[in-house]
Amino acid sequence: GKPSYKWRRVLLKVSGEALAGDQSQTIDPKITMAIAREVASVTRLGIEVALVVGGGNIFRGSSWAGSGGLDRSSADYIGMLATVMNAIFLQATMESIGIPTRVQTAFRMSEVAEPYIRRRAVRHLEKGRVVIFAAGTGNPFFTTDTAAALRCAEINAEVVLKATNVDGVYDDDPRSNPHARLLHTLTYQDVTSRDLSVMDMTAITLCQENNIPVVVFNINKAGNISKAIKGERVGTLIGA
Ligand code: UDP
Repeated sequence: GKPSYKWRRVLLKVSGEALAGDQSQTIDPKITMAIAREVASVTRLGIEVALVVGGGNIFRGSSWAGSGGLDRSSADYIGMLATVMNAIFLQATMESIGIPTRVQTAFRMSEVAEPYIRRRAVRHLEKGRVVIFAAGTGNPFFTTDTAAALRCAEINAEVVLKATNVDGVYDDDPRSNPHARLLHTLTYQDVTSRDLSVMDMTAITLCQENNIPVVVFNINKAGNISKAIKGERVGTLIGA
């Protein structure tokens, strides 16, 4: 019979930073292509994939608020617009290799993408299309990690797969401490009480309240995205 995988529907969160690669450019087309190829390989297996993209490679509201008279809300709207740019780029790459893809934005930009309509998003997934959720939650003061948790809960996806530039969650910062250890499993409680920088409190709490496991893994290792989506052991698994 058909091989069965751990997840039937996943929410893949790709940060803006992950799209930038070695940071020498805003978006690295090699990275968007690598993501597209791996996503294609799992949609062929029948696993439904929704994405939330960040915008930190282009604009992060919190670091701009206050400059040039920019209030936090306006800065965050610019940040949300940045995620739309990434989403459109990623959509173009995916479609260039034949993956039917829809972008849905949290606030209306009807000439550019569909508005977010939950039931329509689910329908797209059921038809085997990849859905990219852009513009975060549509609200300032939130993050795209929170958008990932929220959309995951809304569309009944089973897991948030958080693609990062590190192998997973460590007990200390691996860039400054060479002895930092990678933690393979964690509870939500561990993350919140030990203040491990995995995702912001709002996002992790939303996952906890809805019993959504989170997998944190390195997007730069070939094969990792498809492994994570297929439910193979990779990175750090956070759960109850
Ligand atoms: N943002 C927001 N509301 C949201 C999601 C994002 O205001 O629901 C803004 C915020 O300014 C944030 C920026 O969009 O800094 C880019 O998103 P994020 O920092 O989460 O991107 P990532 O770190 O994943 O690249």
